[in-house]
Amino acid sequence: MSFKIAVTSGKGGTGKTTISTGLFYYLNKIRNIKVQLLDCDVEEPNCNIFLDSVLSSTVPVTLQIPEVDKSKCTYCGKCKDSCAFNAIVLLPSTQFIEIIPDICHACGACSYVCPEKAIIEKTTTIGEISKYTISDIENFTEGRIHVGSSLQTRVIKATLQHAANQGITIFDSPPGTSCPVVATVSTADYVIMVTEPTPYGLHDLKLMTETVRTLNKPYGVVINKAGLKFDKLYNFLMEEDIPLLAEIPFEKKYAKAYSVGKILLHEDPLLEESFKSMFEKIVNGKQAG
Ligand code: SF4
Ligand code: SF4
Repeated sequence: MSFKIAVTSGKGGTGKTTISTGLFYYLNKIRNIKVQLLDCDVEEPNCNIFLDSVLSSTVPVTLQIPEVDKSKCTYCGKCKDSCAFNAIVLLPSTQFIEIIPDICHACGACSYVCPEKAIIEKTTTIGEISKYTISDIENFTEGRIHVGSSLQTRVIKATLQHAANQGITIFDSPPGTSCPVVATVSTADYVIMVTEPTPYGLHDLKLMTETVRTLNKPYGVVINKAGLKFDKLYNFLMEEDIPLLAEIPFEKKYAKAYSVGKILLHEDPLLEESFKSMFEKIVNGKQAG
């Protein structure tokens, strides 16, 4: 029996990693529940900063990226016509052909259609998956994409394959509402949307809510930096009947703890009640919000 919780936010800097690592710490250290954390924010994975972890293994994420053997190419254009991602630049008049690896999705269509067998596929590394142990248990996995690659979704999917099929798994999702977020959230059983009580926070929360509702996932909201007296956020939650899972108050000491890579709950045991409430509401409210 497994249960997967995705933690996401409309934009970076909202407190998503604070909640992912805090919930992981609460379940792992305080409740002694079997839990695993996957950092799927592959462009900027930063959960590791907050964890006392030891690297145990790293494996590359590879794709078969095509290359053209120009000595065989007749510049017929069939490969370009078959490419749904516009990854092939072809100028027959100057006998120029190039495949742009950062746009290529390694679908294999071009090499399949080439009548001259002029396209060969080469193994290319686009990122890494690293596994870590915490207190001698391998329960933290980090996906990381190589700088310059735009294939986040491929690295995220490779990272998600490391989710255990038993116990609780927390996904630290990328922020936003684009394909990488959908790739992460669509495999979760529950979605925590982290927001803050500001006009920007509310704007992004509305977009996120639409995305999560489209994916038909149960969800709830955690308000980080609570206490900024922005009633419109609370009104939105009430009007839309969105569960409020917990609030993390706006405190200088929390900002300081975050800036030096400390888990808030470790620094302030009073927050235990917030994470307890969050987890109980998730477990008791698995239906779509
Ligand atoms: S399909 Fe093959 S021969 Fe035609 S342009 Fe592409 S690589 Fe060249
Ligand atoms: S492998 Fe697919 S995405 Fe890449 S260049 Fe060929 S057709 Fe385009």
